[in-house]
Amino acid sequence: MKYCSSCGCEVILTVPEGDQRERFVCRDCGDIHYQNPKVVVGCVTHWDNQVLLCRRAIEPRLGFWTMPAGFMENGESLKEGAQRETFEECAAEVEVKDLISVISIASINQVHCIFNAPMLSDNFAITSESSEVKLFHESEIPWQDLAFRTVEVTLKHFFEQRRQGSHLPLVIDLGPH
Ligand SMILES: [Zn+2]
Repeated sequence: MKYCSSCGCEVILTVPEGDQRERFVCRDCGDIHYQNPKVVVGCVTHWDNQVLLCRRAIEPRLGFWTMPAGFMENGESLKEGAQRETFEECAAEVEVKDLISVISIASINQVHCIFNAPMLSDNFAITSESSEVKLFHESEIPWQDLAFRTVEVTLKHFFEQRRQGSHLPLVIDLGPH
């Protein structure tokens, strides 16, 4: 950050009084611009024992497969964000139910919350964000071509939950690689 979003003057990196961390502080108006982790919300969307995956039409990881997920917006709940992202990426209407995973990735300042979301019908479509959208049985999941580790660990936990009849979410930290 270089300039203050309140007044447009230059910011400096300094430890404000009573704080323990460096923050961007405006030299003019004194506003402290805190930076905090971003929340990513998404769904393991499924129909008839098959999981809906999207082939990414955008960077990063263009061409690799993912579950629908993206950054939460202001003014929405976790579940509303997960539902919106699912519709934006694969045009599927879903009912957002239990949490499958909560994954902290401190290296990139993100927390991912992924929900179990059965589809309300078998309608889905490609979108500007997904060049291909397809239902996969567990044995057909393209494990070698998944876009992110979050996708891999979440899908594995989803199938494990099903086998065990469990609703316990996976709560883990992932390193940078
Ligand atoms: Zn300012």
